[in-house]
Amino acid sequence: MALVQADVVLRDGKVYFHKNCHRCGPSRALVSENAAYYVQAYSYARAGTEPLHVAHAATHGCPTDCGVCDDHEQHTCLPIIEITDHCNLECPICIVNNQYSTHMEPAVFADVIAGLLRAEGQCESVALSGGEPTSHPKILELIDIATRDDIGRVVIVTNGLRLGKDRKFAEAIKAKGAYIGLQLDGFTPSTHEKIRGRDLCGEKAAALRVLKELQIPTQLIFVATRGANEDQIGQAVELLLAEDHILSLNFQPAAFTGLGGGVYAGDPLDRLTIPGVIAAIEAQTGGLLKVSDFSPLPCSHPQCVSLSYLLRLNDGSHLPFARFVDFSRHGTLLRSSATLPATAETQDALLEVMHDVYARSDEIERGDDVLKALRRSLDTMFPPRPLTPHEQVRMGEQQAKSIFLHHYMDAHDFDLERLRKCCHHYPQTDGRIMPACGFNLFHRGAARGPNQAKATPSLGVPIRASTRTVA
Ligand code: SF4
Ligand code: SF4
Repeated sequence: MALVQADVVLRDGKVYFHKNCHRCGPSRALVSENAAYYVQAYSYARAGTEPLHVAHAATHGCPTDCGVCDDHEQHTCLPIIEITDHCNLECPICIVNNQYSTHMEPAVFADVIAGLLRAEGQCESVALSGGEPTSHPKILELIDIATRDDIGRVVIVTNGLRLGKDRKFAEAIKAKGAYIGLQLDGFTPSTHEKIRGRDLCGEKAAALRVLKELQIPTQLIFVATRGANEDQIGQAVELLLAEDHILSLNFQPAAFTGLGGGVYAGDPLDRLTIPGVIAAIEAQTGGLLKVSDFSPLPCSHPQCVSLSYLLRLNDGSHLPFARFVDFSRHGTLLRSSATLPATAETQDALLEVMHDVYARSDEIERGDDVLKALRRSLDTMFPPRPLTPHEQVRMGEQQAKSIFLHHYMDAHDFDLERLRKCCHHYPQTDGRIMPACGFNLFHRGAARGPNQAKATPSLGVPIRASTRTVA
């Protein structure tokens, strides 16, 4: 895990890192299945926003100083709080490192939330994760703590096993207004066996059933893995479009890191990456969604995330924003958010988009329907009174769905430039807020609280992050 320099090599339409470690020798890794996508993504790069507070000054060099240091280039868009390191599965593709030792105490959780809000002011979304968060005996208490006006939504990121068999628990989640991020990587026994360790078809179906019956707002999380589930990508999109309570779909090309993923038999030269998943979406939805409907997200580093928002038309069908929005003018609509939040920024952008569509409605696919839907969205999302972050989230979520593609990094494709712009962060019990890929790769286990803190592992010679540096 020493940091080394990499050559970024474009060959045969793909992108590779070529590295030469003084200890391990030369290595190559596929970084992107589409060189044109990779190069063009850089045109979406945008300056980040500093957090209100940083933990400390950068002294040793990235990623040693995480927490975040004053060199970090983006605030926290998506905080993920790991409330337990217990789990009821042992997934072959697991990217964390469960030790079955800790459930976060409510008082500690309250401190973590307070620290997060001190750094951010307010949060559109807070995700509770683990381990498996539903194995935490006091999870409902934690949801109560996080449910407040300055947090837009509380999302429980779960494998869904408990939801499917514990109706009372699912009803309690519904009553508390929490959201579910349901891990759903496919629809066949062999897919689950390969990446989750056993056939979960029945248990996933039970979870989907209860989420639908109770209309719990849901985000699907699909770890896209070469040779395991790439043929079921279109089916996941169909599910997103078919169900009102499913608000977004998050494809995560597999990262080979963590307790399971670190030893998963994946090939770093033949793996799924963001443009490969986008191509599969077009191929498997019969062109309903096209490659051109997706844009890199400027909020994080543009190689980290890509997304497509889909406007709900008044007949219940959906149309990608890219068919009627010029993102070179309305980049503020590309946000790290599962749904369209009712912010002043969004309102200004949607009003301008509506004027554009009005002027060009003959040229735009379903131009009249788009106009009606935009009018409805503006009327619903922007009532004549100020909204709390909580209300801003709720007002927007029936107006549009989203498809995200988020490629976590591993030792093969790790890129320090990406990490410095990271906006997906793990707040820690010691007050630090750790960029997720840096935490997963370098610090996991080193920041579990004052009594368990260990020294950060050696990262080799500290390197100032002014050059392309990879692990
Ligand atoms: S990833 Fe960000 S917070 Fe961590 S050391 Fe690098 S610049 Fe600092
Ligand atoms: S978690 Fe990793 S892949 Fe995601 S935004 Fe941060 S650095 Fe990029």
